[in-house]
Amino acid sequence: MYAAPFSYHRAASLQEAVKLLQELGEEARVIAGGQSLIPLMKMRMARPAALIDINFISGLSDIQTSKGELRIGATVRHADLENSSAGTTIPIVHDCAAGIADVQVRNQGTIGGSLAEADPSGDWGTALLALESSVICAGPDGQRTVPLEDFIKDAYTTVLAHNEVVTAIQVKIPPKHSGGAHLAFKRSAPVYPTASASVQLTMEDHHMCKDARIVLGCVGLTAIRAKEAEKALQGKALEEKNVRAAADAARAAAEPQSDMRGSADYKRLLVGTLVKRAIGIAARRARGESVPAGHEYAGR
Ligand SMILES: Cc1cc2nc3c(=O)[nH]c(=O)nc-3n(C[C@H](O)[C@H](O)[C@H](O)COP(=O)(O)OP(=O)(O)OC[C@H]3O[C@@H](n4cnc5c(N)ncnc54)[C@H](O)[C@@H]3O)c2cc1C
Repeated sequence: MYAAPFSYHRAASLQEAVKLLQELGEEARVIAGGQSLIPLMKMRMARPAALIDINFISGLSDIQTSKGELRIGATVRHADLENSSAGTTIPIVHDCAAGIADVQVRNQGTIGGSLAEADPSGDWGTALLALESSVICAGPDGQRTVPLEDFIKDAYTTVLAHNEVVTAIQVKIPPKHSGGAHLAFKRSAPVYPTASASVQLTMEDHHMCKDARIVLGCVGLTAIRAKEAEKALQGKALEEKNVRAAADAARAAAEPQSDMRGSADYKRLLVGTLVKRAIGIAARRARGESVPAGHEYAGR
């Protein structure tokens, strides 16, 4: 099906994008990679009267590192991150970017669009919550920085006002002896995962876990920070019984729903397994090992 008619506006600057959003009103939408919005428009589940294209605004597609922070412009493509040095500095970023959908979607879809869409199955909302991340938004009153944990409020719902645009995502670079992994299980490449897990560990020495962040994806209306699972590791030796306790706590924290990707019970079991595996990979990376990881596919 074709999308319902709409007008197209190419914003040359952020100020123009914000002004257009104000002038064109509630029926206007920003378009970035179009990988979520265009399919919805074709199915007539979204009928924006106007699209404001932010792809030609300079500075929105830069990836920069400065003062211990990584700044990722809102229109940076998943593929840009897959191939950037940011993914080497913070492996969780590479794991996430390289596993999203297929090459076509990764070449078009943007990190800003993914967070603004707030799809409960989206990978970035999960992976970036395992790091200290903030979302930078611009609106008529200037710029504001929102911690990621406050940005996504519910499924498909963020704190963004209608006349605000996500301009960048800021990520604190993890300290030395810190390592992370984002794992997701999928039925095939061009679909969203059945469940995902992101883990970032900071080690004291080779065996003691100083700090842990554990986030579950696709098993709730938003990504879930599994705080009891984190407590099972923090300040403790990274040994089998503590890892098992963390995986059990992660399963308990999950709030999955049965759907075409699997039953609630299956997803709960799966997310615990992903957490356990991600802990193992994160720990090895924290110890300086280079370990390939990312999305896993059914039948492989
Ligand atoms: C077949 C397929 C499989 C996919 N599989 C996965 C997957 O496995 N994992 C995953 O994470 N994602 C997956 N996706 C989604 C993909 O990652 C999209 O890129 C992402 O959801 C939206 O990014 P976009 O740039 O395409 O946004 P768009 O489609 O352009 O926009 C999405 C929404 O965000 C708003 N928006 C976009 N940018 C901004 C901005 N800067 N400021 C304010 N609002 C903004 C738009 O108005 C719209 O409401 C898949 C998509 C497809 C089509």
